[in-house]
Amino acid sequence: MRNLVLFGPPGAGKGTQSEKLIAKYGFVHISTGDLFRWHTKNDTPLGKKVKEIMNSGALVPDEITISMLQEEVSKNPDATGFLFDGFPRTVPQAEALDAFMKKNGTAIHYVIALDVSEAELRARIAKRRNESNRPDDEEEKLNKRVNEYFTKTVHVLPFYEKQGRLKTVNGIGEIENIFKAICTILEN
Ligand code: ADP
Repeated sequence: MRNLVLFGPPGAGKGTQSEKLIAKYGFVHISTGDLFRWHTKNDTPLGKKVKEIMNSGALVPDEITISMLQEEVSKNPDATGFLFDGFPRTVPQAEALDAFMKKNGTAIHYVIALDVSEAELRARIAKRRNESNRPDDEEEKLNKRVNEYFTKTVHVLPFYEKQGRLKTVNGIGEIENIFKAICTILEN
């Protein structure tokens, strides 16, 4: 079983690349953003708890996020590999993920970060705002999300880098070329 963390700021293209990776390699896709959106849309108890936080652009507390993720992994005992998208977003989440995978007799084999400048990602999200229908794509909330990334989530990069697990891919350019660069990492 091979497990991958796809890492990057909001608007880096994680969703687009995830779809292509799933089609090619059959990963079970676990996107904490999609899961939270499902819960808020269906008004579950968890959804009620996180709705306001998400809509403000802030990160959901680690405790809630980690337990939701573990539950989701446990639902897929036959998975041949997981693709984690939007998780981990804090160092405690990264530590919890390692511990959890170890307990399950496996590990995170690849951490691939999509590198996109702040200016480029702001421009991309501004563009998708019109089509996305996501309340957290509004300008002020987007600012909050980008700030959350640059204050909390970036610290996950040195966490993986120190362990020699981090690979960085330029996230600017043709979708197909970025995809090829990721596939090269996974196949070597
Ligand atoms: P983005 O486009 O910002 O990458 P996501 O769809 O991954 O968005 O996440 C949307 C929102 O869901 C985040 O702003 C946050 O409120 C919540 N969220 C998603 N993943 C996490 C996580 N790992 N930790 C905390 N909050 C999260």
